[in-house]
Amino acid sequence: MKKLLLFLLFSVSALGQNQDSIFVKKIYDETLLNGESYQNLRYLCKNVGPRLSGSLGAQKAVNYTKKLMESYGFDKVFLQDVMVPHWERGAKEEAYFLDSGKKYKVNIAALGGSVATSKAGLMAEIVEFQNFKELKEAGVEKVKGKIVFFNRPMDPTKINTFEAYGGAVDQRGGGASQAAQYGAVGVIVRSMNLREDEFPHTGSMRYSGGGMIPAAAISTKSANDLSKSLKNNPKLKFYFKQNCETLADAPSHNVIGEIVGSEKPDEIIVVGGHLDSWDLAEGAHDDGTGCMQSIEVLRILKALGYKPKRTIRAVMFMNEENGLKGGTTYADVAVQKKEKHVYAIESDSGGFTPRGFGIVGNDSQISKLTSFKSLLSPYGLHEIGKGSGGADIGPLAKTGTVVIGFKPDSQRYFDYHHANNDTFETVNKRELDLGAGSMASLVYLLDNLN
Ligand SMILES: [Zn+2]
Repeated sequence: MKKLLLFLLFSVSALGQNQDSIFVKKIYDETLLNGESYQNLRYLCKNVGPRLSGSLGAQKAVNYTKKLMESYGFDKVFLQDVMVPHWERGAKEEAYFLDSGKKYKVNIAALGGSVATSKAGLMAEIVEFQNFKELKEAGVEKVKGKIVFFNRPMDPTKINTFEAYGGAVDQRGGGASQAAQYGAVGVIVRSMNLREDEFPHTGSMRYSGGGMIPAAAISTKSANDLSKSLKNNPKLKFYFKQNCETLADAPSHNVIGEIVGSEKPDEIIVVGGHLDSWDLAEGAHDDGTGCMQSIEVLRILKALGYKPKRTIRAVMFMNEENGLKGGTTYADVAVQKKEKHVYAIESDSGGFTPRGFGIVGNDSQISKLTSFKSLLSPYGLHEIGKGSGGADIGPLAKTGTVVIGFKPDSQRYFDYHHANNDTFETVNKRELDLGAGSMASLVYLLDNLN
């Protein structure tokens, strides 16, 4: 009797697994045969283009994604008001250094949030450091009146390049305020890029006391050239000019589309990316791919006639890059409206070959998700386990939501991140589709959990 019961239980669960594996296959087939995220991404990159918060591009991106989701006939499509910071680069920056009477051009981009130099630009001696400890040891005596150059590379031995980024990005975010404490007049940071090339990579910085001095990133090639010249001639002069400014906060929006749940409409599963991008680029991998994959998730489920038990939402978050106002506002509204967000998935690591999902949750929540491994590993999703979610969904985690980051292969991401080569052409259609299929499969499996 006991044996029979065990056999029955096993059969029922095997049947469930089998149904799931059939449906997951249908999801991937749908996006690989009929996927639309690639053509939608082309439109976003080429017809909308750069879309930093507060810009006309950002407004166009809001209008475009709202219309796109309406065209798919999702149950509801709506905007959520968000006030965002508004920073503008102004005229293109200029930079060079003078070594033994020769002028060497430097590829430069102001960091987001930085102040401008004077109209004439800034010329001074430049002093190189690898980290804040070296800066502190040098002190006022060696820093006052100079430009500080932070040149610690991302660690190439890290296999996950996001770890390498995390290990270097303090120079970009906090370098200006650190250097200003010792009387520096400007800050130059080596681009967050593992490759040696000519592209300056921008990104956000913040002032936290010590005076507001102009800050900019230079390309890895320029950083290597400058460092080499400085070794021979520590007195060489560096010049840069930038014209950026911070304007008044501007009204903007998160864009939300949803399919209403059939059994538990009050339980929400979010899938999203951020709609804003840096001003230098088309924002293909950061994060056009995540937005278009999120919309594709809902399109796939609808195309397959799937009626979710829970409400499934695609959210285009505004202002991840320089303020996170979209993510924080979204979570605040969820609390005010007492919405129950059970899971949130973010794709903001590029549109590359899917590898898995990183989960922020307790042990039992994580083990529920790792139980999907056998269903998802045939699609290359082997890395499913504890990890980090995503910046925009981070604020939801504080309300008890299990947050999950989609993990594509990370090796090429920082070749393009925040630089003007982050273009549509660098995205591979199959990789993009597979990512959307991976996210849709996870949404389907989560929807069917008790
Ligand atoms: Zn991003």
